Amino acid sequence: MNISQTNIDLLRELLSKPSQKIVVLSHTNPDGDAVGSSIAWGEALRRLGHTVTCVVPNKYPYYLDWMTGISDVVIFKTDSEGRTAAAVAEADVIFCLDFHSLSRLDALGDMIASNTTAKRVLIDHHLDPSEQFDIMFSHPESSSTCYLVYKIIEALWGAQSVSASQAEVLYVGMMTDTGNFSFSNLTPELYQSLAVLSSTGINIPQIYNNVYNSFTEGRARLFGYTINRKMKLLRKGTVAYMSLTEEEMRRFWFQQGDSEGFVNYPLTIKKMRMSAIFIEHKDFIRISLRSRGAVDVNTFAARYFNGGGHHNAAGGKSFVSMAETIARFEAAVEEYAKEGLL
Ligand code: 5GP
Ligand code: MN
Repeated sequence: MNISQTNIDLLRELLSKPSQKIVVLSHTNPDGDAVGSSIAWGEALRRLGHTVTCVVPNKYPYYLDWMTGISDVVIFKTDSEGRTAAAVAEADVIFCLDFHSLSRLDALGDMIASNTTAKRVLIDHHLDPSEQFDIMFSHPESSSTCYLVYKIIEALWGAQSVSASQAEVLYVGMMTDTGNFSFSNLTPELYQSLAVLSSTGINIPQIYNNVYNSFTEGRARLFGYTINRKMKLLRKGTVAYMSLTEEEMRRFWFQQGDSEGFVNYPLTIKKMRMSAIFIEHKDFIRISLRSRGAVDVNTFAARYFNGGGHHNAAGGKSFVSMAETIARFEAAVEEYAKEGLL
């Protein structure tokens, strides 16, 4: 991955002004990569003497609660003290981490669109960033934003500047966005960065356990139910979809984050090419898509479900009923297949 030296120089200059007020933002339904990159980058900025507020639109899943520094991340949805508005209003610089469009911030996006004259810097690995930024680190070839933040820290201050606390949260994002190092973009340089993180003394098995072996009983039972009862197959078993209504989730004491990873499971079937899950929320249905190899779910999500993401992992939203969403998905799959894209 080649990070532009011009951008690094611009960023260095931006950060050289003393005591800046900085906001670090990440996306709705923040995951390990969103939170990990925000905390690690926030620590780097505070070390320079800047005042940093990290903000996410809504709560991160409970299995990330253990992360050091996560309690300092402001959750906009429950921010009754107005900390977000105050920080945005006085911000000199806003960093946008792990998202490529203000629409990924929901209501928080409107505040960023109008209430600030701060310089904007993008640090992201999604395809097709859609906004204007003063400095843009847009690297879809990076397996995670945490890896990108690592490379920027390395370019600015050297690998030895990475602390154990930064290493721990960066590892979380690198691990979760790659499915514990099993997806694409696993480069030799990524493993070199992991060697640096490991050398700070972080406990990698413990991090794995904290994230992946910390679910509730309800989640385990909901998972079994979803695969056994709700997984439907199309196109000779090469496309799978699952759906969960609010009522079904309530039955299994659903907590936010409990359905994380379900959509990957159908891809453990050898001939599977694409997998989808539809999760009912109050006002819409969230769609998650995964694919193998050449099948492009970024385009699929953008074309049919107002979404986007990465080539093999994307998402979107549907504003019609579950039955209509499923019908639309089935028709979209047929159209995609007819065009030779599936
Ligand atoms: P997940 O299925 O894990 O929620 O999301 C997979 C990928 O798709 C993530 O990289 C995420 O950023 C992207 N994604 C999920 N939902 C949306 C959406 O509504 N719009 C866009 N543009 N991307 C999304
Ligand atoms: Mn990410």
